[in-house]
Amino acid sequence: MHRPNIALIAHDLKKSDLVDWAASHEDKLARFDIVATGTTGTRVLERCPSLPITRLKSGPLGGDQQIGALVAEGRIQGIIFFIDPLTSLPHDVDVKALIRLAAVYDIPIALNLATAELVIEKLGH
Ligand code: PGA
Repeated sequence: MHRPNIALIAHDLKKSDLVDWAASHEDKLARFDIVATGTTGTRVLERCPSLPITRLKSGPLGGDQQIGALVAEGRIQGIIFFIDPLTSLPHDVDVKALIRLAAVYDIPIALNLATAELVIEKLGH
């Protein structure tokens, strides 16, 4: 049986928070196959080089949409997406599209640290 897949994404001002979060949950994340948008994946791998992370395109270049496609195909079981709610982003429509698909397919999607803790507790044991 395939290992469950989890997706990691963080907007620029939230990347450090996600890297810290991933490092503090490295043991649980290691049980997943992980996909991440390009820069987020690079940053997490710098801190946690042994995590099985597949890097997709950067968010503004289609990475959110690639993760959305995986959701639509039933290949993602959870999304950790540290959004920056205070900055205007060129790819805001892509962000909305991914959140929408997570709702359509009833996939847990954590948009902040507090929810990420709940999601990893539930999915990671
Ligand atoms: P990135 O993409 O991880 O490549 O920066 C995420 C984003 O900023 O949307």
